[in-house]
Amino acid sequence: TVVDPEQLLEGMNDPQREAVLHHGSPVLIVAGAGSGKTRVLTHRIAYLLAARGVQPGEILAITFTNKAAGEMRERVEALVGPRARAMWVSTFHSACVRILRRESKLLGFTSSFSIYDAADSQRLMALVCRDLDLDPKQFPPKSFTAKISNLKNELIDEETYADQAANPMEKKLAEAYFLYQRRLREANALDFDDIIMTTVNLLQAFPDVAEHYRRRFRHILVDEYQDTNHAQYTLVRELSGGAAAHAPKMTVDGDFVNPAEARLAQIAPAELCVVGDADQSIYAFRGATIRNILQFEEDYPNATTILLEQNYRSTQTILSAANAVIERNTNRRKKNLWTAGDQGEQVVGYVADDEHGEAQFIAEEIDRLTDAGNARPGDVAIFYRTNAQSRVFEEVFIRVGLPYKVVGGVRFYERKEVRDILAYLRVLSNPEDAVPLRRILNVPKRGIGDRAEAMIDALAARERISFPQALQRVDEAYGMAARSANAVKKFNALMAGLRQVVESGAGPAAVLEAVLEETGYLAELQASTDPQDETRVENLQELASVALEYEKDPGERPEGDEGPPVGTLADFLERVALVADSDQIPDDEDGSGVITMMTLHTAKGLEFPVVFLTGMEDGIFPHMRALNQVKELEEERRLAYVGLTRARQRLYLTRSVLRSAWGQPSYNPASRFLEEIPDTLVQWKRTGAAAVPGSRFAGSSSGGSSRGSSRGYGSGSSGGYGGGGGGQGGGGSAGRSSSVGATPRAGWGKSARTVGEREIVALAVGDRVTHDTFGLGTVVATQGVGDKAQATVDFGSSGRKQLLLRYAPVEKL
Ligand code: ATP
Ligand code: MG
Repeated sequence: TVVDPEQLLEGMNDPQREAVLHHGSPVLIVAGAGSGKTRVLTHRIAYLLAARGVQPGEILAITFTNKAAGEMRERVEALVGPRARAMWVSTFHSACVRILRRESKLLGFTSSFSIYDAADSQRLMALVCRDLDLDPKQFPPKSFTAKISNLKNELIDEETYADQAANPMEKKLAEAYFLYQRRLREANALDFDDIIMTTVNLLQAFPDVAEHYRRRFRHILVDEYQDTNHAQYTLVRELSGGAAAHAPKMTVDGDFVNPAEARLAQIAPAELCVVGDADQSIYAFRGATIRNILQFEEDYPNATTILLEQNYRSTQTILSAANAVIERNTNRRKKNLWTAGDQGEQVVGYVADDEHGEAQFIAEEIDRLTDAGNARPGDVAIFYRTNAQSRVFEEVFIRVGLPYKVVGGVRFYERKEVRDILAYLRVLSNPEDAVPLRRILNVPKRGIGDRAEAMIDALAARERISFPQALQRVDEAYGMAARSANAVKKFNALMAGLRQVVESGAGPAAVLEAVLEETGYLAELQASTDPQDETRVENLQELASVALEYEKDPGERPEGDEGPPVGTLADFLERVALVADSDQIPDDEDGSGVITMMTLHTAKGLEFPVVFLTGMEDGIFPHMRALNQVKELEEERRLAYVGLTRARQRLYLTRSVLRSAWGQPSYNPASRFLEEIPDTLVQWKRTGAAAVPGSRFAGSSSGGSSRGSSRGYGSGSSGGYGGGGGGQGGGGSAGRSSSVGATPRAGWGKSARTVGEREIVALAVGDRVTHDTFGLGTVVATQGVGDKAQATVDFGSSGRKQLLLRYAPVEKL
């Protein structure tokens, strides 16, 4: 394809044009959202190929996600044709893996080295800590993995760290770091952070390797530069060469130590073009530093900085809202983002009674927009702060038949931690179910390995009994090491204890709580500093909410429908299985696309005609842990800016007065970010006319998944939340206080339990008690204390029951 270079510049404004044409010295493009940074990068690449005689192989373009890389390659290909394929367009990690595979021998690896993902790293670290005899309570392996990751992002290798480790904790960490790296080398493996650090080391240690890549990549372009961490920053510097790269090695007499260093010093630096927006830096928690963008000019003294100020994405209203929020951050360069576009529609704010009402409103609104021909499902995106928030949306969308996809995340009921815990519940509900039993046998890790499992299998085959039965007879498994046999026995005891919780009459929520606690599953996640584990805790918290909601309002079984009794664990699992069945999710039948759901972090760089920003509550967004910390709050505010600026035409901001976590209702005030947006830009709506939906389980089992039947939405009443527009003016405190006075829906008080905070009833022989399921009874015996306290209660016609008081739904009369 012969491309007319002039065509590539068509429609560009002056600074954009300058950025595409700029020659030679490094160029930094800093600009607000939607000002065409990514577009400039793409057009610059096309221009290099079309007008400046640059070969595709001389270009290295780096983006933040594989998706973005794919899109950029496509766009360049569309502009210049298939020869763009020879170009490196990739993430930092993929580019480094390519380099490392080629040079692996220099580092003592074979080119087939394997890459450890986060889970592999955790496993290896657990082994390392065991071999070092470290007490996992005092030195949790997960926190070690996280710290080592941070060190690698800062390019601090194990030897350097050993030198600087001062206190006993750091010394232990240094020891673990050493052994961990040795094990990786022995396994011919690199972990995720090693990939960048090792490439930097390679380029700094081997001048001929550096020479090779510096001769090759004459143009380096980086998108989303504000989110690079120190290691990535250094990588770019070493690849591009020039003044900022590390100094060539010299002898005391001022000669190069070898000819390669001399040759390296002769190579002109590559043309570097980085684009970013300090206001969109949202990865500080992964070691990204805005410093990289703020000090670019210092590090590259001959750099040119280009500002883009015209936004081509959003309406003036959306832009004004976003600007009003980001202006509250201190320590930022002021920007003047403007658009030649329309004022556009007002931002719509919505205050829902609870998170179901929020999801319901969004579903109705999307229906309304699509019916009116104002948008197709594919135009719509829903953003939330944490993954767990997608669950309520998913359930409502499944029920009303709206097609959706969850980007960068797994659907709620497909997530590992959710499936793990549900597997426990399934085993408790049906001890003969071998599939979930095998799943949890060694989760969390308890020393029951594949070998032990195989021996139990052999025992089952020999004795013609089931696997679960064989597990109970572990002593008869030939050849099993005493250590494994003990682990199996401990597991059996654990499950027996949990079964007693079920037999104490505890509902699904209390059983779930017992599983989370007694298995150590939750504690392990909570001890970790890996942000992913924080997400997992949130998802489990969400699952606890599901169970409590179910208990509160288990719905009814249609007549003639056989099944476990309503309210039981078995019934709960059956309902969950129905919702969790992914076949129910309609796909893109008519090509109008599907609604996109994702976290705010994943939304970076993207744009959608219609955007819903949800959970706009202090404690949700901004996230709880940021509320009292200035730096973190500023990062949350940048995240809000990212979210707001994804919208092209319509922006909705929703919040909910009441929201459950661990099934515990909490009243969150409106997000401070909402209040930072001028009132004139927002049109507020509030629940009132719209009904609060009844139990979502009831809805899903009534088969209401066709779109036709979805019109009525929900049933029930909105309770005491005034529909009189009380939530005006920033959705502020008026709405909040009016709802606190409202009568909570039945069941809240009683079933609102918090893990670890439950009061245990003290009982003595002769006490009269009432039990949720078994009714009135008399205590005939007690044993154990604290968490382990038990009571034998005579419930008359219901018989005698052994109750584990911590979980039994029992009250003293
Ligand atoms: P973000 O900060 O969110 O990553 P960005 O600065 O990278 O945003 P782009 O995604 O490149 O912005 O551009 C935003 C939108 O504006 C895109 O739809 C793009 O095609 C359009 N756009 C950018 N420049 C122009 C222009 N000169 N003429 C027409 N449309 C443009
Ligand atoms: Mg961009």
